[in-house]
Amino acid sequence: MDTLFHFLFPIIAALASRVHLRHPLRSILLAGIITVLIDVDHFVGIGLERALFHNIFVTFLIPAVLLILSFRFRTSKYVKGFFVLLLIFLSSHLFLDLFTEGPGVALLFPFDTTYYAVNFCLNVPVTSQFVTEACMASSFGVGLFLFFVIIVLPCYYIDEIIEHIGKSRKKAKR
Ligand SMILES: [Zn+2]
Repeated sequence: MDTLFHFLFPIIAALASRVHLRHPLRSILLAGIITVLIDVDHFVGIGLERALFHNIFVTFLIPAVLLILSFRFRTSKYVKGFFVLLLIFLSSHLFLDLFTEGPGVALLFPFDTTYYAVNFCLNVPVTSQFVTEACMASSFGVGLFLFFVIIVLPCYYIDEIIEHIGKSRKKAKR
């Protein structure tokens, strides 16, 4: 998927969940900007397209560690909210690229350079003068739908997520 889409769509999905009524708009915009930065992969021709930054370490592990650190340093609810958004946006970017036409993504880079992609098409027979079957559900359509859901749902429950992580950290300390 192109970079502009990766910037606009998570923001639109987050706004659809009305997260901006509970968290500052600038957190959503900043998370959106950071999320598209990983697309630098697409533009640098050093043979690491969708690998250098398109992997689970950059898009999941690092934001997850930053989120945990935001609890450790007892930052405000808004800072924690920003890191939840960053985790949602970055990991959903990687998720959608899995379903997008192209080589897929090197999920486990730098430990493994295998590219992973989800590619399918549910064909149904049609009576047309041009084709004999048409694609009713493609991996891209399904991926796009799941992409929307994995952004909207956690954004909608963002305060509950923050509260839950806070409680489990307190329990773990006891
Ligand atoms: Zn990308």
